[in-house]
Amino acid sequence: MPRAELEVGEEGDYDPDVASPLVSVSVDLDAVECYYRIHALGEAPAGEARFAILRRALPRLAELFAKHGISATLFVVGRDLEGDDEGRRIVAELARAGHEIASHSYSHPYDLARLPREEMAAELDRAHAAIAAAAGRPPVGFRAPGYEISAGLIELLCERGYRYDSSAFPAIPYYLAKAAVMAALRVTGRQSGSILGSAKVLGAPCTPYRPAAGAPYRRGDLPIMELPVTVTPLLRLHVIGTTLVIAPEWLRRRLVASALGTVHFNLELHGIDLADAVSDGISPALIRRQPDLRVSLDRKLAALDRTLSEARAAGARFLTLAEAAEEFAKG
Ligand SMILES: [Zn+2]
Repeated sequence: MPRAELEVGEEGDYDPDVASPLVSVSVDLDAVECYYRIHALGEAPAGEARFAILRRALPRLAELFAKHGISATLFVVGRDLEGDDEGRRIVAELARAGHEIASHSYSHPYDLARLPREEMAAELDRAHAAIAAAAGRPPVGFRAPGYEISAGLIELLCERGYRYDSSAFPAIPYYLAKAAVMAALRVTGRQSGSILGSAKVLGAPCTPYRPAAGAPYRRGDLPIMELPVTVTPLLRLHVIGTTLVIAPEWLRRRLVASALGTVHFNLELHGIDLADAVSDGISPALIRRQPDLRVSLDRKLAALDRTLSEARAAGARFLTLAEAAEEFAKG
């Protein structure tokens, strides 16, 4: 039975004849304020919580990556680097330590892919400038807020010489759950700041591909790679940090084993995955809506630590997304 199936893949049960899994770990550094928008909580957080992701959660992740000897890809929101000297210093230091700093837009608009062309271009260019200044080298990769891309957005990335996009997230249960949450919010008369995104993503390839001009969720021949966020084969369950830190241990292990059987385990984490709700000053209103904020930091850290150990035990080769894009571009 192929180990890619969800039902298999106990720890240590790896076939030495199978080529080393290719694993990329990335972190979307969405500020706490983004989660206020998703859950329609109104006013952005005050005080230190505003900076909790770059100043507090990111160093915890960096420590975990150092322990495992991993160079990760950090998707930074350009605006967050402005007006936060401490956050910018941390990002610059991680760039010097060998992590890839990539773009997650300038102001994290969830409807980026639907904005007029000039506004989309301004989001890309302002983020590009802020990240290049902080990291000392310009970004070559992009991830869209809310995972949604459009033909126009991919075209703009191509024009700017970006090597890859990593936004496609063809996760069926995730998509349905998000639709349900947004519908429930509407029933209470509120509107999420996030958007559902096109259902076309559910038909997107689950492995790296060159998108088609005019149809970014289809294979084509554009000079950019699309690196989809990993889902399991068959069921297309999402294997992202937020799932791994809240899942029961047996499920986490199986999801990880399944992801390690795919062509590219593109493990997407969020900075908030290693937030500590109590000491980072996260408000009770947000904690009520984000289940991962109700899990202790120790438990979340242990889940991610074990995930990386299991990847290593399976013989994983860890590449940044930029490095993975170059490998897949060569075919
Ligand atoms: Zn984001």
